[in-house]
Amino acid sequence: MATRRTSREINRQIALSLIRAHQPVSRAELARLMETNRSNVTLLVNKLLEENLVREGAQGSEKIRGRKPTFLYLNSEKSYAVAVDVRASRTFLMITDALGAPLAEIDNFATEADPARFVKTLSRRVGDMLRRGIEAADCEGLGIVVPGMLDPASGVVINAPTLGWHDVNLLALLRAEFDGVEIHLENSAKACALAQVWMKRGGGAAVNDLVFVSVSDGVGVGIVIGGELVRGRHNSAGEFGHLPLSIDGPPCSCGLNGCLEAYISNPATIARYTGSGSPARQPGSGEIVELSIENLMARARAGDSRALTALFSTARYLGLGLASIINALGPSLVYIGGEITEAWDLIELHVRNAIGERTLTAELAATPVQIVPASENPRLRGAVALVTAPAFAAPKLA
Ligand SMILES: [Zn+2]
Repeated sequence: MATRRTSREINRQIALSLIRAHQPVSRAELARLMETNRSNVTLLVNKLLEENLVREGAQGSEKIRGRKPTFLYLNSEKSYAVAVDVRASRTFLMITDALGAPLAEIDNFATEADPARFVKTLSRRVGDMLRRGIEAADCEGLGIVVPGMLDPASGVVINAPTLGWHDVNLLALLRAEFDGVEIHLENSAKACALAQVWMKRGGGAAVNDLVFVSVSDGVGVGIVIGGELVRGRHNSAGEFGHLPLSIDGPPCSCGLNGCLEAYISNPATIARYTGSGSPARQPGSGEIVELSIENLMARARAGDSRALTALFSTARYLGLGLASIINALGPSLVYIGGEITEAWDLIELHVRNAIGERTLTAELAATPVQIVPASENPRLRGAVALVTAPAFAAPKLA
């Protein structure tokens, strides 16, 4: 990530990352953290103060060279960012300050199948949220994550099977509604993986080889190897959701049969419980109202053995899929996001057993799997990181 940047820009990003991680921080402390001298830091900080990215706050109590140091903070108050998590069933919306801290309750609405109508609704909902008392004046940008293959540069959603969107120029539609706002698009799972990398950096130990598996209406996978997001030639790398577990398996949203997604997505788990056979949602058919995965998990906890069995099967298939991902990539850490993480205490053992069954070495079998709870809104965090992180995204330090 750092190869084509000037050292000045890199130092600026390192400084911002360190201030974010250690604030309030004095100039002397910052110089120590950056392993550089005070005059370098003074130059850097003056520039950041000028750009309004950093502000000075309270004074420290201990005198250094006869005077009390003034602490530095990131300036997060002057602007806001909009984060959008598009899912096949519902779309979630969050407004944050410039550091990604939420400024209001998360809003959500049923995702419309027609992209143009969807963007109109989104624009209205963002406007409503802003009118309900967001003080900050400037919009830092809008980050939107979509479950499917897309090209972040052109803003075209190439193929989002669960949404039924093919070759949709989402960026053009968004630009028409959000005039003058900087817009960042990314695949949901890729954004989640990036957000994990960015959150770890500046905070100490960096994990440079990780996989984020998002289990929801569909299944998305974001891969970071050597600190870099793996995109592949057409930005489609990581489509492990369509790894075939069985060529004669249940139909998948992609039109084929037996993909991992067709075994472990929320609709797949629900279909296993209701016995409705076909887990594939009709693309763009909107929300499933009959039974939610949350309902199913609640029934399992209440002692409904069929619900528990459906979850256990999903856990086993998830573990088999993870084993293939682990065998193929050898990550240091696997993150799991999605509603099903709320039942992790029930299913973890089944997931781990299946991983153990199909990984090729004991080391691979022992790969740590960590859940990111739904309450942490990893996809919204991924979306907001697209806006807020680039300024802070220091090259990897570890
Ligand atoms: Zn598929």
